[in-house]
Amino acid sequence: MTTDKLAFICADMAGLAESNLLITLRTMGSPADAWMVVDGKQVLNFCTNNYLGLANHPKMKAAAKAAIDQWGVGPAAVRSIAGTQALHIELERRLAAFKGVEDALYVQSGFCANQAAIPPLVGKEDVIFSDRLNHASIIDGARLSSAKIVVYEHCDPADLEAKIEEHLSNYRRGLLVTDGVFSMDGDIAPLDRLTEVAERHGVLTMVDDAHGEGVLGKGGRGIVDHFGLHGVFDVEIGTLSKAFGVVGGVIAGKRAIVNYLRQRARPFLFSSATTPADTAACLAAVDLLEESEALVTKLWANAEHFRGEMKRLGFDTGRSQTPIVPVMLGDAGLAKQFSRELFEAGVFAMSIGFPTVPRGMARIRVMNTAAHSREDLEQGLAAFARVGRRLGVI
Ligand SMILES: *Cc1c(COP(=O)(O)O)cnc(C)c1O
Repeated sequence: MTTDKLAFICADMAGLAESNLLITLRTMGSPADAWMVVDGKQVLNFCTNNYLGLANHPKMKAAAKAAIDQWGVGPAAVRSIAGTQALHIELERRLAAFKGVEDALYVQSGFCANQAAIPPLVGKEDVIFSDRLNHASIIDGARLSSAKIVVYEHCDPADLEAKIEEHLSNYRRGLLVTDGVFSMDGDIAPLDRLTEVAERHGVLTMVDDAHGEGVLGKGGRGIVDHFGLHGVFDVEIGTLSKAFGVVGGVIAGKRAIVNYLRQRARPFLFSSATTPADTAACLAAVDLLEESEALVTKLWANAEHFRGEMKRLGFDTGRSQTPIVPVMLGDAGLAKQFSRELFEAGVFAMSIGFPTVPRGMARIRVMNTAAHSREDLEQGLAAFARVGRRLGVI
């Protein structure tokens, strides 16, 4: 008997196509910026996480080039053997100072940071309290730890407390973990109230602030700064791949924890260190953020303007409180068609469907940035209004 070993792939792919959930890759033909060449066409870009316009900033590029000349293109080792260059130490020192924490660890990506930080802190005798809408990298990091995962309702401190009271006593210790800014809805976790509950029960606290790093808090210092939880909060995960415009992840917080991760975090111990160009560009980003708050201010002004005008036009922007503005459409097919028609009108804004968001909650997600001019926003808003009316959304 012959069986087709790959039949399961055909079946799954057909299912994805049927549900309008097949991902089609667009090819960028220019740097991430307000305007970008996408599949050969110059379009207004609302898709990248380049919040502050640093991804193609001249000072960032100069820093990366100079680092290549001085340090080469790669460290050729994991951090714990021979991959820790003076640049890495300098960046960790600068990030800790910028964020007002005792210590910081720089790892390869934000995704990696969750795999690095969660398993050393909790194991199979422990329990993780996780927001229902947490990012995939938190979920995977939590699964990797083998701890029991208890999901509490989205941004709900009362449900967190109920879940802690129900479960904590059955385990050795507990860890609260939540996104800071939820990447598909643009809402902010009530970190002050969640922390108060966790602290009262002696539960460790961790936030993944990938979309708050460089965005929330004074001059982009992140969600712990936004809520004034310095010295109270245990671990803040961040990414240098979004507002910082480069690549990498950061684990910032109490020295005892960060230092422990240098002994125990597997991506730190078993995967090579980031390149000199990346590390030096991240250092240049810290310089720019410490020099001026102007980019962060412009980012928020753009976001408030765009969200306000979209609401005025009659669009449903969901729970957005940040530069992430979802345009809720529901049906995945409608969201794809909306995105296609925007693209034809010269506006690049991707549709997002299951499994990135729950079924039936498909949307277009608009990422506002400081790189957009007011004219860019007006042009984008006009295209949304035209397509929205044509498709009967508004
Ligand atoms: C984007 C994102 C990550 C991944 O960060 P990378 O640096 O791109 O790997 C992790 N967590 C959250 C909440 C994110 O939004």
